[in-house]
Amino acid sequence: MKLEGSCHCGAVRFRLESAHPYPYMRCYCSICRKTAGGGGYAINLSGDYRTLRVAGKKNVAVYRALMTSGETGRRTRSSGRRHFCKRCGSALWLWDPNWPELVHPHASAIDTELPVPPQHTHIMLGSKPKWVEVQTIPGDTKFAEYPEESIAQWHQRLGLEVGEGRKRGSKR
Ligand SMILES: [Zn+2]
Repeated sequence: MKLEGSCHCGAVRFRLESAHPYPYMRCYCSICRKTAGGGGYAINLSGDYRTLRVAGKKNVAVYRALMTSGETGRRTRSSGRRHFCKRCGSALWLWDPNWPELVHPHASAIDTELPVPPQHTHIMLGSKPKWVEVQTIPGDTKFAEYPEESIAQWHQRLGLEVGEGRKRGSKR
């Protein structure tokens, strides 16, 4: 499925191909919440990085989050590159060199009509503040951290893969 997206001010436009376009995964981690999820979570899609085309690249900035380990207190940089518009601040997509063939656009930045997911996966609930209420429908699954099931595997399990399937997926 061809996806088109943009930031709010229009300085950045992008498109990509995705076989896994259902916006079913809600991430409640503090990074997603603060950078892309005012209501408590962000929704990441998955697409084919080789097909990503960007207009207005000079307006794209990258954020690599500093994360503090709860156990050791050590601070490390997230490997994930969170791309956003430096003019209006819209969160656009995440790319991680650990899964270089994938790109994870935020559903919030996509202009193409996305399919409605029949169920949701709620992840990183261990990072959720109390005020964020998790709204579920029958069939939803919940995880304190990341699930084993990748975005691609979720689409395969529910028979929702669009077009030619991809064998590999990431945990995001
Ligand atoms: Zn913008």
